[in-house]
Amino acid sequence: MRLPCSPRTVSCRHGQESHEEKESERNTPQDSPKSRNFRDCRILDGFLILLSPAKALAVSFALKLIAWYQENQRDLPWRQTRDPYHIWLSEIILQQTRVAQGEPYYQRFLENFPDVARLASAPESQVLKLWQGLGYYSRARNLHATAKIVHEKYHDRFPPDYALLRQLPGIGDYTAAAIASFAFNLSHPVVDGNVIRFICRMDGIFDEAGSPSCKKKIMAVLQERIDAAQAGLFNQALMEFGALACTPAKYLCKENPSLCPFSGQCHAFLSGQVELLPVKKPKDPLPWRELHYLLLVENGSTWIHQRGYSDLWRGLCDLPSIGPGTEAGNMAQESALPPYGGFPAKGTAHPELQFLKSYTQTLSHRKLHICFYKVEPGSRLAQAIKGDSRYREIPLESLSSVAVPKSIEKFFLEFKII
Ligand code: SF4
Repeated sequence: MRLPCSPRTVSCRHGQESHEEKESERNTPQDSPKSRNFRDCRILDGFLILLSPAKALAVSFALKLIAWYQENQRDLPWRQTRDPYHIWLSEIILQQTRVAQGEPYYQRFLENFPDVARLASAPESQVLKLWQGLGYYSRARNLHATAKIVHEKYHDRFPPDYALLRQLPGIGDYTAAAIASFAFNLSHPVVDGNVIRFICRMDGIFDEAGSPSCKKKIMAVLQERIDAAQAGLFNQALMEFGALACTPAKYLCKENPSLCPFSGQCHAFLSGQVELLPVKKPKDPLPWRELHYLLLVENGSTWIHQRGYSDLWRGLCDLPSIGPGTEAGNMAQESALPPYGGFPAKGTAHPELQFLKSYTQTLSHRKLHICFYKVEPGSRLAQAIKGDSRYREIPLESLSSVAVPKSIEKFFLEFKII
């Protein structure tokens, strides 16, 4: 989104300095507070306004940030609009998703649901199918729930109010600030992981990244520095600088400090502590969970299972599985192969099962080890699957229309099942 840069926010010294001149001062030593008190000022509606040192710093920060952004921003489709529906859609898709991966999903959602009313009236299965491959399916369900609320309660218009946006399912502090500022130019700073890294380095914040105390300090800094007249543009620039310029390993000052407009004020750079910031929380190892899936193909059909809403991959479809509570699972366990509670070796012998492939997948809260087996048609196990009411027969040619988890889709594609 390209927002116009307001001419009102031109900072100056002695009332004469232009925006460009300000930029040419990158990396010069900071002025003494004494001289700055007299010299920092801004032209506002033709009047020369003297600024406090803190406000002067804030104005200078916003000017440098926006100037950098206008030179370096990526051309992304959701930046060409101020439509809150488009902005909201892009922000939800981009949570825990890279831009390159999220962009086709954004386009596909807009093609299928050009407005919030059409998303609200779509069946959940269609929303989940379009979401397939992005993971974190609760985002898709929240997306659908929010569309329904906006349709029914707000008559297809997102409320131009941070607190009301914040109440919608799947919209947290960051997303509410993004929609409020990008669509409505409301002055709410955005704080995502990239912004946390940038501001922790810039201001020497050593609290654990993402902790409440860290976020509180960052929010206080940004509330001081946000340019209220162009809050959307300021936030876009802030996020883009964190994403492209002050990255974990390839930050601008590493190669050449003069490339970064903030190297003259950046605490981490000036104190040689860039690598130490932000302070990361030590990660607990994720627990493992095993899943053993059975593929039965007979007469051009296979059998699938609709997952419930109390466990992993809520509402998606998977395959019959070996596990407690299913007849097929009990029978496979009866035969003691494959081992339940241990990973089966490739080529494991079993009269009715053929091991095909295993995959690992990391979710936010656990790691999965997923094994797939082919069931011999006509076998006892095949009869058990076909007789179990939890499994549904589906022609192979219809399988691609069903929403399945990423690992199962990968298996289907690799074994040319879809
Ligand atoms: S000087 Fe380095 S660490 Fe500081 S903001 Fe610039 S790129 Fe980031």
